[in-house]
Amino acid sequence: MARVFNFNAGPSAMPLPVLQQVQAEFLDFDHTGMSIVEISHRSAAYQKMQDDTVAVLRRLMQIPDDYHVIFMQGGGSMQFLMHGANFLKHRGGYLNTGIWSDKAMKAASYYGEVYEVASSKADHFSYIPKEDTFMVKPDTDYIYMTSNNTVHGTQWQTFPHVDVPLFCDMSSDFLSRPVVVTNFDFIYAGVQKNVGPAGVVVGIIKDSLLKHVREGLPDMLSYRTFADHDSTYNTPPVFCIYFVNRVAHWLEEQGGLTAIEARNAKKAALLYDCIDGSDGFYRGHAAKDSRSVMNVTFNLPTPELEAKFVAEATARDLIGIKGHRSLGGCRASIYNAVTEEACQALADFMNEFKKKQ
Ligand code: PMP
Repeated sequence: MARVFNFNAGPSAMPLPVLQQVQAEFLDFDHTGMSIVEISHRSAAYQKMQDDTVAVLRRLMQIPDDYHVIFMQGGGSMQFLMHGANFLKHRGGYLNTGIWSDKAMKAASYYGEVYEVASSKADHFSYIPKEDTFMVKPDTDYIYMTSNNTVHGTQWQTFPHVDVPLFCDMSSDFLSRPVVVTNFDFIYAGVQKNVGPAGVVVGIIKDSLLKHVREGLPDMLSYRTFADHDSTYNTPPVFCIYFVNRVAHWLEEQGGLTAIEARNAKKAALLYDCIDGSDGFYRGHAAKDSRSVMNVTFNLPTPELEAKFVAEATARDLIGIKGHRSLGGCRASIYNAVTEEACQALADFMNEFKKKQ
């Protein structure tokens, strides 16, 4: 079996034991004699699996009972619009730390006034703003943030505490570290980085917030529809939810989020140490105190060297190192499923490549 070292930004590496389990279970799901993609979403076997997915997510993240866990489609981009549709009544505040929060702010502006509570846009989104720089306007319905900025390689190390409902897009660091769910009123994550195939978004929404959903919305735009119908108002993305279930169980077997956080920190340190020890040959994009443990972004002295670096890395089966088209440079995405061995192989290659120049 020829598996490469996969540093793709999303969709991205999934845990090998889960891929193997999914393969083994594919033709006969839970003794039904049918595949998970062949059974009804109204069947007992499906419902049992979905309930278990919610239960294991609740255990992993310690989600309290007064939050609903819901499954939606349309990716992160649908949430850019949907949070505004449901909750933007006066004005929405945005912690603008990357192109995804920028897009969320633009999409939500369809429903009303949006503004930046803080922003690092003028500095190419290279840092996470400090809480004492926040400017919150009166009548702010919510503050929206992105916990990990996939493109720029920055990440909130601690979360802000604000006096209005806090919404968080956790798409690119979901289940990579413990978070205090009660600090947020709404968390969502497209699962295609850490947790499963593209096609489902996990939402964690506080019951008290659901009361403020805009009245008169079309059913499929309303969070209340998903909460009231246990995510089965229409056909949910059954395969994706099943896959999330298996990844969540795998995470529990690994020791849960505290254990995975420690492993992720160790992996990231291998690459950041390499950057910091390169006498400026590799330059990190993110300010040191804002560095992401999930996406390591860096530049080489010239675009030509970057192209050569990516080509040689690819030849060594180190895949997905080219930076996002909006930023250029290089990016190694090292989500939960990327092994320490993979990170060590990349660090070794980086050291070698530098020596050869
Ligand atoms: N939020 C974050 C943090 C992302 O990284 C991405 C995409 N990579 C999105 C939202 C958009 O997700 P989607 O492509 O599922 O619409």
